[in-house]
Amino acid sequence: MTVYLGIDFGTSGARAVVIDSVGTIFAETQYPFPLQAITIDTATQWQKVLFSLIEQIPQSIKGEINAIAINGTSATVLLCDRIGQPVDAPILYNDPRGVVVMEQLRTIAPPNHVVLSATSSLAKLLWWYDCTDLISNISAETNPLYFLHQADWLAFLLHGKLGISDYHNALKLGYNPENLCYPDWIKQLPVSSMLPNVLAPGTPVGVVTPEVAHSLGLSSDCLVCTGTTDSIAAFIASGAKQPGEAVTSLGSTLVLKLLSTSRVEEARFGIYSHRLGNLWLTGGASNTGGAVLRHFFSDIQLESLSSQIDPEQESPLDYYPLLRPGDRFPINDPDLPPRLEPKPDNSVEFLQGILESIARIEARGYRLLQQLGASPKTCVYTAGGGAKNPTWTRIRERQLMVPMLPSIHTAAAYGTALLAKQGYLLEDRV
Ligand code: ADP
Repeated sequence: MTVYLGIDFGTSGARAVVIDSVGTIFAETQYPFPLQAITIDTATQWQKVLFSLIEQIPQSIKGEINAIAINGTSATVLLCDRIGQPVDAPILYNDPRGVVVMEQLRTIAPPNHVVLSATSSLAKLLWWYDCTDLISNISAETNPLYFLHQADWLAFLLHGKLGISDYHNALKLGYNPENLCYPDWIKQLPVSSMLPNVLAPGTPVGVVTPEVAHSLGLSSDCLVCTGTTDSIAAFIASGAKQPGEAVTSLGSTLVLKLLSTSRVEEARFGIYSHRLGNLWLTGGASNTGGAVLRHFFSDIQLESLSSQIDPEQESPLDYYPLLRPGDRFPINDPDLPPRLEPKPDNSVEFLQGILESIARIEARGYRLLQQLGASPKTCVYTAGGGAKNPTWTRIRERQLMVPMLPSIHTAAAYGTALLAKQGYLLEDRV
């Protein structure tokens, strides 16, 4: 049996998926994260979750796993010593403490660079350097410290090698995925010795350590590959592969991702590109989306009212559905007012107006990406809570004017298992 394990550390829980060489799911395990304060013990909790996910896989499958990859939450980072022991509590993806180093960062990084955000990995590393004394007496030889992303550290627990990352996780650290190096302005920083070496996602790093193989029941030649971030893993899971193929996520917010032959960056709209093989994965996120629907309707109402809409008739209502002012993509205006007027008495008409308007914003988003140089979209896969609404799908098809395809899989862990498979096949060829 040839099987591969993908592990997803998301924001609310962790999941593991084992697939075979044609992508059939063999086993799935999960572990919800308890709501806990973030402390230095948080990383120990992650370790417990990782090991528990693997332990729960039936032994007959576990012993056959050829390769493992892990995805973490983008820009969730930690600092550890030479034996991989965390020296401080991890900093989570949405922690804005880096705001205090933004002024300094603006003097170092080129204008509009993706690191210029209070939550970027680089802002978090500089915060550790500037605002704590943890890094002050760092010596690359005698007392090395390692700055790692969540996925890097979890993979280290399996293969035992420190200081390795992938270029999806490392994008917000400033790594240049086009030239495959850190830019000179990063190499000159006093923290440069702590930066991880960056490999392509899905690159084999090594086999599991003998202790891990023994304690978790894995084969001693099970490979561990570099990982990715949770949202890219979900994109890979969808089945989109060719330039022009897109995935829209209709969750609380509206997130667009489009595979393109060219790299598109436009900081004003929060648009940047990840490298995916020889292609670029570009996209943007709008504050409109399911959170506005949930404000007005329960999920049951959404289902029953949607079934009464005629999706072939365009709604004349032209809204910009937001819960509070401001959007970045496809309209960059921090004060953009929510527009949900006029509100008809009839709930079916009101819902259709919102669904139609979100679809127009989605179409505008893809147009903007294309205007900025991305490959024209050829089809759209859909993920998230809104994907199960066939009426909305038809409305969107009318607005987007390309076929809408159901995502083959939506779980990030599934996409990461595909990455593990890719890594294994790569190793096999060498
Ligand atoms: P997230 O993970 O971003 O919180 P989900 O992918 O779980 O979001 O999707 C939840 C959203 O899906 C909710 O905001 C809800 O309003 C929306 N939703 C649920 N059912 C439907 C439906 N039938 N039609 C449209 N939207 C729906």
